[in-house]
Amino acid sequence: MTTVTRFAPSPTGYLHVGNLRTALFNFLIARKSGGTFILRLDDTDPERSKQEYADAIKEDLEWLGLTWDRVERQSDRLDRYAAAADSLRDAGRFYECFETPTELDLKRKKQLNMGKPPVYDRAALNLSEAEKDTLRSERSGHWRFLLNQERIEWTDGILGDVSIDAASVSDPVLIRGDGQVLYTLASVVDDTEMGVTHVVRGSDHVTNTATQIQIIQALGGTVPAFAHHSLLTGPQGEALSKRLGTLSLRDLRARGVEPLALLSLMARLGSSQPVELAGSIDELADGFDIANFGAAPTKFDENDLFPLTARHLHGLPLAAVQDEIAALGVPGDIAGPFWDVVRENIGTRADIADWWTLCRDGATPVIEDEDRAFIEEALAMLPDPPYGPDSWGTWTAAVKEKTGRKGKALFMPLRKAVTGRAKGPEMGDLLPLLQKKPG
Ligand code: GLU
Repeated sequence: MTTVTRFAPSPTGYLHVGNLRTALFNFLIARKSGGTFILRLDDTDPERSKQEYADAIKEDLEWLGLTWDRVERQSDRLDRYAAAADSLRDAGRFYECFETPTELDLKRKKQLNMGKPPVYDRAALNLSEAEKDTLRSERSGHWRFLLNQERIEWTDGILGDVSIDAASVSDPVLIRGDGQVLYTLASVVDDTEMGVTHVVRGSDHVTNTATQIQIIQALGGTVPAFAHHSLLTGPQGEALSKRLGTLSLRDLRARGVEPLALLSLMARLGSSQPVELAGSIDELADGFDIANFGAAPTKFDENDLFPLTARHLHGLPLAAVQDEIAALGVPGDIAGPFWDVVRENIGTRADIADWWTLCRDGATPVIEDEDRAFIEEALAMLPDPPYGPDSWGTWTAAVKEKTGRKGKALFMPLRKAVTGRAKGPEMGDLLPLLQKKPG
């Protein structure tokens, strides 16, 4: 059987690291087994769903290389959901209710006051046809799925054996009073009709899964394998939900995070395997096994992304950055030496431009007061460019001879005067790239 997975975001906002975990796990499962990965846009809410977000979701996934084999939009499939609703109605598993949100709230409060779980009491099942007609003339009804009150069980790919008492769960509303099909019905119909074999999603969906299993069975579908990953927290275990807005994939991209760094972290975080920088997505897929993930909340620290990003960049061959380097205006004959000299010294791609600006225009020198005379003297001894591989050695030897300085006291002030920084590439390698005399 071909593996079919799906990532099903609602296009109501930008993707963030939490969504990425879901997208990546589903993608890797399909990729590892040569299966199909579906991008499904859960856009049945016409008020909140926006084309701009649907486009952004695709753009973010493409940036990461999480390409999909098929894209589906729930708004194109409303007739399928209506047909499923009819079939549930025919099977006696669908019933119309008329309580307003305020009435439901009141019922819940009463139940809680009496120490009972706030489960919908199924009062609507006792309405006569005449009573329903009267209510229908006042307001539009919503539709609930009638759960069989028995234990719902499945073996979860991450949580292990799960058992939920359906009697502890309210019959889920599948169609709202205004006719809007809700996620639970649409998702089940899609999973069934699209042959989805594996569903990985956040542990906030565990109760949904229990009800969905019964709906799938009522529709005669095959229940997929489910796995619920833990939710991400901040580094101290704090809830991440409020901060997810600043952890959108586009923000991380703008801050220079590299796709493979992000994917490498997310494919391992919360698992028993160590985080390692992968060379490709296929390498991540080969080593991926959902069984390695634990149920405990997973700590995410965005700062972990930057060392991985730097490591990824340090390993890139010239060919991978050639276009960018050319776009900065680096002459073709020095592109290779320039990349070799700077790559170990960049944290993100944006740093490449900074190094080129330094080579082309020079830096604002950093000179300590006590070094002022020394630097003036030293710079007077430096000829105009071009500089060769021996220029630095020849110059510093002459400066040493003249000033008597040596070691760090000789080299560090010169480095800071020439580059404006205390750290950087070997000066002997950097000097030949300078287009102007420093100072
Ligand atoms: N649109 C749902 C969500 O974003 C999909 C959940 C699921 O994977 O079924 O939560």
